[in-house]
Amino acid sequence: MSDRILASQARPLARVKSWDLEADVVVVGLGIAGACAAMEAADAGADVLVLERAGAGGGTSANSGGLVYLGGGTPVQKACGFDDTPDEMFAFLAAISEPGADSERIRLFCDESVEHFHWLESKGLTFKRSFYEEPGLESMTDDCLVYTGGENCHPWSGLARPAARGHKPQTVGKAGPFLMQCLLASVDRHPLRSEANVLVETLVVDAAGAVVGCVARRAGRELLVRARRGLVLAAGGFIMNEEMLALHAPTLLRCNVRNGVDGDDGRGIRMGQGAGGDVLRMGLGEVALPSTIPNRLSRGIYLNRHGQRFINEDTYYGHVGIEGLLRQDGKVYLLLDENSYERGLVGLEPRWVAETIAELEREAGFPDGALQATVELYNRHAAQGEDPVFHKRKEMIRPVDTPPFALIDSGTDAAIWATFTIGGLRTDRDARVLTPDGLAISGLYAAGRSAALFCGQGYPGSGISLADASYFGRRAARHAAAQGH
Ligand SMILES: Cc1cc2nc3c(=O)[nH]c(=O)nc-3n(C[C@H](O)[C@H](O)[C@H](O)COP(=O)(O)OP(=O)(O)OC[C@H]3O[C@@H](n4cnc5c(N)ncnc54)[C@H](O)[C@@H]3O)c2cc1C
Repeated sequence: MSDRILASQARPLARVKSWDLEADVVVVGLGIAGACAAMEAADAGADVLVLERAGAGGGTSANSGGLVYLGGGTPVQKACGFDDTPDEMFAFLAAISEPGADSERIRLFCDESVEHFHWLESKGLTFKRSFYEEPGLESMTDDCLVYTGGENCHPWSGLARPAARGHKPQTVGKAGPFLMQCLLASVDRHPLRSEANVLVETLVVDAAGAVVGCVARRAGRELLVRARRGLVLAAGGFIMNEEMLALHAPTLLRCNVRNGVDGDDGRGIRMGQGAGGDVLRMGLGEVALPSTIPNRLSRGIYLNRHGQRFINEDTYYGHVGIEGLLRQDGKVYLLLDENSYERGLVGLEPRWVAETIAELEREAGFPDGALQATVELYNRHAAQGEDPVFHKRKEMIRPVDTPPFALIDSGTDAAIWATFTIGGLRTDRDARVLTPDGLAISGLYAAGRSAALFCGQGYPGSGISLADASYFGRRAARHAAAQGH
């Protein structure tokens, strides 16, 4: 069996003769989870050491869109006229994350989201007090607030008061690099040590099973690192490990873009397993189907391989992606007409164009009459401004009736499908790693994509991963820093 899927067995303390480095809190990985954990532990007065395998910090966080999911009444939400509360945020996240949601962690995440917003600003991030109208997407301007989880779409709009919660740090264009630039600069201003080009390979456990350090490698030489109060695994997920994907999340292998860096090889998770940690939700991922971009194209109709609709087209593209991948076999088409189609959108070139729906149906090979029936039913209701089947928002409803008609092949064989893993080590409210029996492993914490996200299904919306990683990185650090005091 490949050692890329095996747990990295922890080294017994009895085999450690001496330590090369020591700290109260050792943080493995310097992406957003690691950066926030390190700063929080230092602020709590702990002696902190960060170990990063790459030449510098940043990780996948620095390649991301930079959207951070925050709510409950942040200053940006208030300035933009959104009346959000922790309860409304919880109602949305808990509902969208069922079945199997971790409601205790969701509750904390919502209750402390405004505080977390202020903390991020105190660490050098700024968020412009402005709203960006185009849902689902980070703005290309420096505007901030955006709907990222379909909060204003069916069925969620009926379960919780809709509020935009995607917060983009204030910069023009993609915000991930800027986000990490700000946080890493802030890390440098904290009294802590950080070592690059150090690959952590496994953990060290004492006779009682507590994690007391780790074994790392720097320039080919083994380093033994003692963690006096705790060790935080913030080493990313496993999207770049084909063997782990094949074992745990084979469906995600159908996505042709893997959102990660080399460090996302699952080692953090496997180190946790080697110290007795349990894993959760390993089959789940975020699945982005970018052909819903821009959102105004959702005036068209999504179709499955039978020529039938399967979702309200205006929802978050990650929901379309999960539904399309898991339940529609990755075969997804977008039907547009002369009114809804826009020329020149990269990746959205039609595969078939025809003057009638019947012709398009034949050319694309849908079952006889299927597409015609779908379009007839949709148009009949759309003429009244209604969508009684999937409840698309009124402003997105328009009959698809003006030739020529275009069909974009958005299937996994034809379009870009991007994914990252959201399963990982099972953790509690303080990001302590739990055994299969639900017991916390003393000294061991996990945050970011080394830990399982709190949702039971799919991915709730853009911005959740950076928010979860930064928030639970901080909780891990606070708990670890308080040990032995
Ligand atoms: C294109 C793209 C867009 C995205 N957009 C968004 C978005 O807008 N909002 C959002 O919430 N999420 C987004 N995501 C997802 C998000 O970026 C990640 O899920 C998140 O950054 C994970 O943070 P992390 O701290 O867990 O991991 P990382 O940021 O990857 O950090 C982990 C660090 O650990 C290091 N490391 C790994 N193994 C070891 C080891 N054994 N020893 C030492 N160091 C190690 C790595 O080198 C890395 O620096 C996006 C992802 C991509 C790729």
